[in-house]
Amino acid sequence: MYLSIYYKKWFSTYTYFNFMSIKKVTQHPSQNEALIFERSQTGRVGYKLPKLDVEETNLDEIIPSELRRTDDLEGVPEVSEVDVIRHFTRISTWNYSIDLGMYPLGSCTMKYNSRLNEKAARIAGLANLHPLAPEAESQGALELIYRLQEDLSEITGLPGVSLQPAAGAQGEMTGVLLIRAFLDQRDGEESKNRRVMLIPDSAHGTNPASAALAGFTVKTIRSTAEGLTDMEHLQQLCDEGGVAGLMLTNPNTVGIFETNIKEICEIIHAAGGLVYMDGANMNALVGVARPGDMGVDVIHLNLHKTFSTPHGGGGPGCGPCCCSADLQPFLPVPRIVKEDEKYKLDYDLPESIGRVKAFFGNFGMMIRALAYIYTHGAEGLREATEAAVLNARYLAHYLAEDFDKPFDSDPMHEVIFSHKKQSPTGVHTLDIAKRLIDYGFHPMTIYFPLIVEGAMLIEPTESVGRQDLDAFIEAMKDIAIEAIENPQLVIDAPHSTRIGRLDEATAARKPVLRWRKDMETLSKTA
Ligand SMILES: *Cc1c(COP(=O)(O)O)cnc(C)c1O
Repeated sequence: MYLSIYYKKWFSTYTYFNFMSIKKVTQHPSQNEALIFERSQTGRVGYKLPKLDVEETNLDEIIPSELRRTDDLEGVPEVSEVDVIRHFTRISTWNYSIDLGMYPLGSCTMKYNSRLNEKAARIAGLANLHPLAPEAESQGALELIYRLQEDLSEITGLPGVSLQPAAGAQGEMTGVLLIRAFLDQRDGEESKNRRVMLIPDSAHGTNPASAALAGFTVKTIRSTAEGLTDMEHLQQLCDEGGVAGLMLTNPNTVGIFETNIKEICEIIHAAGGLVYMDGANMNALVGVARPGDMGVDVIHLNLHKTFSTPHGGGGPGCGPCCCSADLQPFLPVPRIVKEDEKYKLDYDLPESIGRVKAFFGNFGMMIRALAYIYTHGAEGLREATEAAVLNARYLAHYLAEDFDKPFDSDPMHEVIFSHKKQSPTGVHTLDIAKRLIDYGFHPMTIYFPLIVEGAMLIEPTESVGRQDLDAFIEAMKDIAIEAIENPQLVIDAPHSTRIGRLDEATAARKPVLRWRKDMETLSKTA
């Protein structure tokens, strides 16, 4: 997990509890907002029910006394409708969102989500469909899933697709379970001697976690000075034996395309293993290059990154798993099949790893993704990819003078910098990220990947135009000047927010999620 995730929490009410240095709680909308509990007034209500026009029922006859709560719901806030509306509306204005501006979180692909996709996801016939509705009455929804599978298969160049996984990480786990099932079938008893998963040192933290969950042990491959997989080290690890596969992100997490990808796949295949590609970075490839053509056996996609759908903060996601024909028999059930122009759910797949998610996964994401694909068309998808790469290269070009760019090669959809040029004056990556908030931008991903000290990973995506890119460049250049002329200004940032530096580690480790009446109120601690 990387630190950028905590930025999303900065603005949430949860972390609000953790900071004793909160300025002052007042009723003024431009100041800090008291908790809804603190606004409570005994006896205040939001609405009144009409008088009963039937006889009152004796509760004792309906709900057994041991099932009824005896406390008097102490602590539930007593507030009026307007209290609730204003409280939450005020808090909502503290959020930074993709609808507010550029959100350059590297690896996360925070792109603008078209309203049309939202509208499609809200079509009543789709949104209200019950997952247990019979096949005959859900043909439209099944066709939608089927068509999306076909499109993702074409985009990745891999014939097998399951849309069940609800997140990228779950797609990864599904993918490595397919590898394991395949090896077990191919090698029988011998399969247990093949339990090593190779993962580059630049990988997303979910990769080793998925491998471990599927029963593999991880060996780390070094990256070269150019930011690519070290081929000699890869060969050496393969020669040690026991290799079940490789998990590789491409473009990798420093934003560089692994130009040796074909050779990498050949080395792994020759060692008897399979290649898993982390496809969270597909925004750099869609419509231009296909992992299946590169020799990849299995990949997950993040519909909630590459194919629109709002994400962040743990909302619903969709991490489809796409695989080669060899791995296809092991995909989760049920699978949607087409027979005589009708769509059917097929559960009769004995080699399947089984279900990984209830029903069919997060259907709403699939509607948005298909709407995204159809509104772009093949040409449009390619154009989006090209624009995403062009935007990242534009930033790379204009910021390379002011910030250390550890790798020379042209980046793909995201570019990595470090704080090396700023750190001599005491300004570090965290400070630069915080200062960006004062300039009205969401910070980039910071301190990830770990192989670059003080990493700043910037992904503008295709959904920002030149004006926004220029504004971002100007902000970064200004911060670079501040770091020399007035480093303390940057070190103390942000200055424009209601709360300043948060104790992010404590907020994450000891979140206080529940208010109790006996707690010190914020107004008292201020
Ligand atoms: C986001 C991401 C993941 C995990 O996806 P989730 O949907 O957050 O589980 C995996 N790998 C990379 C490279 C990512 O950027």
